[in-house]
Amino acid sequence: MGDGSVKVAIRVRPFNNREKQEGAVLCIEMQGKMTKVYSPELTKEFFFDYSYWSHDGFIEDPNSGMMVPDGPSSIYSDQRRVFNDLGVGVLNNAFEGYHCCLFAYGQTGSGKSYSMVGYGKNKGIIPIACEEIFKRIEEVESKTLHCEVTASMLEIYNEQIQDLLKPPHERVKGGLKIREDPKAGVYVQDLSKTPCTNYDEISEVLDKGNSNRTVAATQMNATSSRAHTVLTICFTQIVYDETGRPFNRKVSNINLVDLAGSERASKTGASGDTLKEGSNINKSLSTLGRVITALAKKSSGSKEVVPYRESSLTRILQNALGGNSKTTMIAAISPATYNIEETISTLRYADQVK
Ligand code: ADP
Repeated sequence: MGDGSVKVAIRVRPFNNREKQEGAVLCIEMQGKMTKVYSPELTKEFFFDYSYWSHDGFIEDPNSGMMVPDGPSSIYSDQRRVFNDLGVGVLNNAFEGYHCCLFAYGQTGSGKSYSMVGYGKNKGIIPIACEEIFKRIEEVESKTLHCEVTASMLEIYNEQIQDLLKPPHERVKGGLKIREDPKAGVYVQDLSKTPCTNYDEISEVLDKGNSNRTVAATQMNATSSRAHTVLTICFTQIVYDETGRPFNRKVSNINLVDLAGSERASKTGASGDTLKEGSNINKSLSTLGRVITALAKKSSGSKEVVPYRESSLTRILQNALGGNSKTTMIAAISPATYNIEETISTLRYADQVK
């Protein structure tokens, strides 16, 4: 996207133990904004706003004698750096009063959840953003500015929306309905919203939502998620005049989206219901790509209709994708040659939306 309102980052995960034992072959190189995919048959270069290398150890640099991150490049990135590059921008947008969306895209096992949620001490973008939002609120709140935060969490599975903050037995058959209101815009009917006044409260909400997530095993990875997970932090700033009367109210929705695995059905050996899931996943992912591309064209004068209505994901994010909103995408990839086809398809997708 020429005007720079969609930021795209690529992040490669390290080899896992199994891959190391099996001698998996590396097919990625990163340098500055460039990500190169290579194999004996092909070499392709892509350019994005950020590229993040991973490492799982340090090696001694033969020239300097210093310990440097291992791997073919020194684009070492940790969770904090990724947050500083991508998450801070999202929070800035929200405090300026814009809606925003941050998506993690990639095949199952490529590091989407690692980037968004994180594991253990390695907190990802979501928990760090939650910490930071309350820190900032403390800094900016005054007699004339009051901030409110509510959180909601939903999943889209087979195009059906379920509230992740309600226990699984309260799931609605056929999913929650999407409604449109002339004032409030597009919203999900009956979706619960939990007010949060500090990090611990929002952290509890996240834990509850994560434990309710539908995790449907595929043959590729027993813990793979076939659902899109959307956490929406609704951030409201109420401005008061000198007499204590509210005179302005800015509402920003921060949508943090862990997308379902982008792998094609063929590779996971899916059939029957799983295949139907696969095609619905691909439908919403391809619609998302088309929506972002159409918005980019629209901002440069195109009259093309933006196909929001073609998937549940893009419908519910309609308010947050168009207009002055900001979009960020982190595309997660595997370092190994045996995943090269999926990696190239992820990089093509990311290239199309940038
Ligand atoms: P996904 O959500 O795309 O299915 P995960 O985030 O669960 O994938 O990542 C798969 C595995 O790889 C996890 O064990 C995770 O800890 C590890 N991993 C992914 N990305 C990184 C990273 N950047 N650094 C270290 N480990 C990572």
